[in-house]
Amino acid sequence: MPKHFDIIVIGAGPAGMTAALNCLRAGKTVLVLEGENVGGQIALSPRVENFPSYPVAAGAELMDKLYSQIEQWGAQIEFECAKSAVKEGKTFTITTDYATYTCTSVILATGCKHREIGVEREEELVGNGVSYCALCDGAFYKGEDVAVIGDANTALQYALLLAGYCNKVHICALFDRLFADKALVDLVMAKPNVDVTYNIALKEFVGEDELSSLRFENTATGEPLTVDCKCAFICVGQIPQNEPFKDLVALDSKGYIIADESCVTSCEGVFAAGDCRTKKIRQLTTAASDGTVAAYAACAYVDKVTANL
Ligand SMILES: Cc1cc2nc3c(=O)[nH]c(=O)nc-3n(C[C@H](O)[C@H](O)[C@H](O)COP(=O)(O)OP(=O)(O)OC[C@H]3O[C@@H](n4cnc5c(N)ncnc54)[C@H](O)[C@@H]3O)c2cc1C
Repeated sequence: MPKHFDIIVIGAGPAGMTAALNCLRAGKTVLVLEGENVGGQIALSPRVENFPSYPVAAGAELMDKLYSQIEQWGAQIEFECAKSAVKEGKTFTITTDYATYTCTSVILATGCKHREIGVEREEELVGNGVSYCALCDGAFYKGEDVAVIGDANTALQYALLLAGYCNKVHICALFDRLFADKALVDLVMAKPNVDVTYNIALKEFVGEDELSSLRFENTATGEPLTVDCKCAFICVGQIPQNEPFKDLVALDSKGYIIADESCVTSCEGVFAAGDCRTKKIRQLTTAASDGTVAAYAACAYVDKVTANL
């Protein structure tokens, strides 16, 4: 017999852990499933400046605190990836790569992961000059020239971190401007070892076993440009991780779960919180906010189902 919980939260990023915290405080039995590392995307951020009451903090530090907090409230956390969720009557069955669980309500807080740039040899060079995480891999390139491919907040955060110990950081932007917060742009631009080249599209990774340079094309003139660097940090957007749940809840054309501020999905008893749902602003505070909303909705749903049994 699979173990039954009031609520299963899928994903232990800021949305999922905030949801779990509120469900636990409401006296519900909660299982949190996490397929990779606790903390989600924000754990990759070296510098968070927009979390209320913390002027500056590393994302991992914030998430470690949240993890301890839900542990103190008695959360059961299993490091298992949810592969499917099926509803039969009033019961959901969640299957992971190791086990099967049942529950009365589900909170999907699966977030997003990095998008690949889609240039030949990208996958082959991961670990040898292609990276999606400056916090994880940046230190390998101390004193070297590196490139950051991207134009938004994550790219600029990476550039700022890398500028602290790399010789040169080239920001390679597809359009004619940066789409990041002004405060962050100002910080990065004040670094003497950072430059930005606009209107360039990556065409080729150059290097035998390791990256040695990047070949770009100017999107306006078609002129080629070579940037010598030991590593390219790629930050060109994200994709939602909702594929395993596409038969349970309705997704939009980009794969986000269709849900508004109420976090209610197309399937009764399933709530979507954080970056995985349709929304305009995907950030730490909006993810945590969704976690709270989804938790209260899920608790009310569980109470309703239990009362009618
Ligand atoms: C480098 C970087 C820097 C950032 N900096 C900032 C910043 O300074 N300020 C800010 O406000 N925002 C920042 N963000 C955005 C912020 O991190 C996200 O908005 C936030 O993490 C979203 O939280 P979430 O819980 O919705 O999703 P996520 O953080 O993506 O967490 C989802 C979790 O679900 C897990 N998961 C997914 N599918 C499954 C499954 N099937 N089974 C089990 N587990 C699963 C994932 O492994 C992950 O741990 C940054 C993002 C990045 C990448």
